[in-house]
Amino acid sequence: MADECRAAVLTALNKPLEILNVPIPELEPGALLVKIVASTLCGTDVHRCHELLSPSDRLPFITGHEPCGTVEQINGKRTDIFGDPVKPGERIVWSYPSCGSCYYCTVAVQPCICTHRASWGHNCVEQYPYLLGSVSEYMYVPAQCTIVKVPQEVSSASAAAAACAYRTVMHGFDRIGTVAPNEMVTILGAGPLGAFATAVAKDRGAKQVLTIGAPANRLAVAKKMGADAICNLDDVTDLKERVAWVKEHTGGRGADVVIQVANNAATPEGLSMLRRGGRFCHIGTGGKATLPVERLPEQLTFYTVRSGEPRHWLQAIDFLASRRSQFPFEEMISASYTLEQVNEAMEAMASYKVVKPVITFNS
Ligand SMILES: [Zn+2]
Ligand SMILES: [Zn+2]
Repeated sequence: MADECRAAVLTALNKPLEILNVPIPELEPGALLVKIVASTLCGTDVHRCHELLSPSDRLPFITGHEPCGTVEQINGKRTDIFGDPVKPGERIVWSYPSCGSCYYCTVAVQPCICTHRASWGHNCVEQYPYLLGSVSEYMYVPAQCTIVKVPQEVSSASAAAAACAYRTVMHGFDRIGTVAPNEMVTILGAGPLGAFATAVAKDRGAKQVLTIGAPANRLAVAKKMGADAICNLDDVTDLKERVAWVKEHTGGRGADVVIQVANNAATPEGLSMLRRGGRFCHIGTGGKATLPVERLPEQLTFYTVRSGEPRHWLQAIDFLASRRSQFPFEEMISASYTLEQVNEAMEAMASYKVVKPVITFNS
C-alpha cells in the first residue's frame, strides 16, 4: 500500500484546485480506508472555493463530500447499517458521524444538529486523518460513521450523489410526512435535488408535481423524472406570473406542499405559492432573504432540513435501486471528469451547464 495518494486540494480561496499528494493515515480502531470510485460535486463545493462556510472550515482542504468507494482496509471488524459484516472490496457509502453524547444526540434525539458532527470537504488536509474530502483517490472513514452497502444495480456516481443531495431530499420527505393522493407538490429548483425531489414526490403519490427552475437542460431532466409541468425561470421572469402559474395548476389555492431546493431567496417566493394550511420544506440555502411574516399563509407548517440521518443514506440508495425502471437516474449525472479535470467540473457545476458532474477514478 502506498503511503500517499492524490487529491484535489484548495490551498486558497478563489484559486483553482491543485492536485497534491496527501499522506494515507494509520487507521484508528474501527476506521476504514476506502478507495474512491466516484465523487459527485455539489453546489456547496463551489461555494467553498470562494468562501469559508463554517467556523470549522480550514484551508488547505480536499474538496468534495459526495463519495462512493470500495473498502480497501479495515482496522478490526466493522458492520453496516443492518449489522452485517463489512468486507474489503465491497462498495459503500457512509453517513456523517454524530457524537452520541451532546444534548442534540441524547436528549433531543436530533443527531443531524449534533454540536460535534463531522462532515467532509472542508477539513484541513495537514491534520490527521488528512483524507476527509471526496475528490481524492482514497478517503478515511472514521469508526463512528454508519456504513451502507451499495447494491450492484446502483451506479457509483448515483450512489455518490446519494451521499448528500439525494439523502437530504429523503430527509425532507421524512419531515413532510405522507403525501396524500389528492395533494399537489411544487418543487422550487431544478438541480440535482430538484430533479430527485420531483421523482420522490411522484413516487409518494402526489396528484401533480410542478417543478420550477432553470436552465432548460435541467428542467428537461426534471420532466423525465416525473414533473407534470415545468416553469422556466429564464422565460417567466416575473414572480407574479410564476405564482399565477402555480395557482392555475392548483385550483386557485396554491400547492399543498412546496419544497424549496434552490436557495434562501426562493423561500419567500415559495411561500406565496403555498395554499393556506400547506406544508413548506426549506432545504436550499445560500444568499439572503427575509420572510414576509405579515403575508404568511394561515396555518402553515414550516420545516427546515439539515443533512440527514443514517437511514436517509439507506433510503436514497434503496430508492435508486428499487425505482430504477421508473426514473432515469443516470441522466442526472450529466458529465464525467477525471481528477485532473476537477476545475473544469467545478466550472460546469458553477455555471449550471450540467445537472451533476462526477469525478471518476480508475481502479
Ligand atoms: Zn452536497
Ligand atoms: Zn452530538
